[in-house]
Amino acid sequence: MKSEGCGRIKKHYLYCPECSFMTEDWNAKRCGYCNSELMERCPHCGAPVLERPAIYCGSCGAKLRQSRVPLQ
Ligand SMILES: [Zn+2]
Ligand SMILES: [Zn+2]
Repeated sequence: MKSEGCGRIKKHYLYCPECSFMTEDWNAKRCGYCNSELMERCPHCGAPVLERPAIYCGSCGAKLRQSRVPLQ
């Protein structure tokens, strides 16, 4: 069981760090396009992703799209 702060979080998105796909479907675990694991928060500062497209963190400015594998 994991605690998420005060229970109800402000609405935000899940995003795909590979292709920047975003969804509000919290049941989705993987990207519908590239099947990568969806992320919930900025990996650098932990801020939830509130804006789209998820390319940069609105809080710390870190790059959210961290595709390591070059598209071919
Ligand atoms: Zn994807
Ligand atoms: Zn951040």
